[in-house]
Amino acid sequence: MEKKFVKEVTAMDEDFAQWYTDIVTKADLVDYSSVRGSMIIRPYGYALWENIKGALDRRIKETGHENVYMPLFIPESLLQREKDHIEGFAPEVAWVTHGGTEKLEERLCVRPTSEVLFCEHYKKIIHSFRDLPKLYNQWSNVVRWEKTTRPFLRTLEFLWQEGHTAHATDEDALEETVKMLNVYGEIAENYLAIPVIKGQKTEKEKFAGAKLTYTIESLMHDGKALQTATSHHFGDGFAKAFGIQYTDQNGELQYVHQTSWGFTTRVIGAMIMVHGDDRGLIIPPKVAPTEVMIIPVAQHKEGVLDHAYELKEKLSNTFRVGIDASDKKPGWKYNEYEMKGVPLRLEVGPKDIEKNQVVLVRRDTGEKLFVPNEELEVKITTLLEEIQQSLYDNAKKKMEAKTHVEKDYDSFKKTFKENQGFVKAMWCGDQACEEKIKEETGVTSRCIPFEQENLDENCVCCGRKAKHMVYWAKAY
Ligand code: AMP
Repeated sequence: MEKKFVKEVTAMDEDFAQWYTDIVTKADLVDYSSVRGSMIIRPYGYALWENIKGALDRRIKETGHENVYMPLFIPESLLQREKDHIEGFAPEVAWVTHGGTEKLEERLCVRPTSEVLFCEHYKKIIHSFRDLPKLYNQWSNVVRWEKTTRPFLRTLEFLWQEGHTAHATDEDALEETVKMLNVYGEIAENYLAIPVIKGQKTEKEKFAGAKLTYTIESLMHDGKALQTATSHHFGDGFAKAFGIQYTDQNGELQYVHQTSWGFTTRVIGAMIMVHGDDRGLIIPPKVAPTEVMIIPVAQHKEGVLDHAYELKEKLSNTFRVGIDASDKKPGWKYNEYEMKGVPLRLEVGPKDIEKNQVVLVRRDTGEKLFVPNEELEVKITTLLEEIQQSLYDNAKKKMEAKTHVEKDYDSFKKTFKENQGFVKAMWCGDQACEEKIKEETGVTSRCIPFEQENLDENCVCCGRKAKHMVYWAKAY
């Protein structure tokens, strides 16, 4: 029975894409809907998202932002206002052309992102330096007509938050862009246990309409990179296109300086691909919908279920606790909650009750511990902390092991032929080299990391004088 259940998941090193699909469906995170690229987020997946969202929302508010809600539709003329923005998004926009049977006079786009809506609103509500900064955030869904899709990683419709801020000066806006990238880094590393590389996108890879884009990049189990979240500095580009001006302390009219930053359901995909194994999901305790799952053993015996429920009630004061008292066999349940990545399993049967103890099993290592009842809360607390830390440490070790340094183009190409992972290499800053690399190897520049290293004097591609060290990788 146990073996058969495990076999249902494709081994990750055999076919990573199939493994991923198996996990997202078999761990009850999502179901496919009848619209290509759209997913139904099931209760277990949504509870996970709510925990991530809760942690991020707290930080967004602690850093002084307010939540608002903007409409779903954008009139075509409004979207057209900022030239680079519309050019970048046009291929991905879904249009509403009819209301009922009547053709609309002006098409409405389903928001792919809400810069222009915020700009229109900011123009109305910002007049004086006293109105600044405006620090708004919205939690919403957006639609981008993606060509290839995969649950969480790239969907037609996704859930996210988008922060949109307006500031008096360019420096203030830049500071905000960095601040929120750091908040994203904190959530990824401290909650999702995903190590990140922070840096700036190249001109070619930056957001449509931005002056510069900052990113956190992570490495998945198969060695491919994932752009995990981004934070954009707009300068006064949008402000000029929309006429968002304020009167400064000297009574002079100035344009505002803006930012936007977004973090999506994609991070769930990252979490799956960084921590999961052949038995299923592994969820970091801080975001796990259930931290401890109680499985009564020989539950038909007198007193076992009552004892298990008492334990649940007691532990629920401190932890997110579940209990499976269904009539399925314990072995089936063990597999089920391993598949679902619950950090700790608590087994309790007649013998344990006699000995005044329980059995705890770690999802990440499989380690089994016999714990006296009076030590239970303390032990669970330390174990959850240990699991959280060890998931991060292991992911970091794996990322470092898959990060290479290359100084000449032949070995750069060879590395990507033989392995996946990050390559750190120098770049002259010329887009032609970036395009050549992409064309010849399928590898893209992930970011110019904030932590620069001078690996060599010359560009890995053309040999001319190098300007930056860049992280390169094949990416999702
Ligand atoms: P952007 O507004 O384009 O900077 O997007 C913000 C973030 O959303 C990106 O950094 C990605 O991590 C994520 N993202 C972009 N497209 C999708 C998609 N189709 N599905 C899920 N997440 C996405």
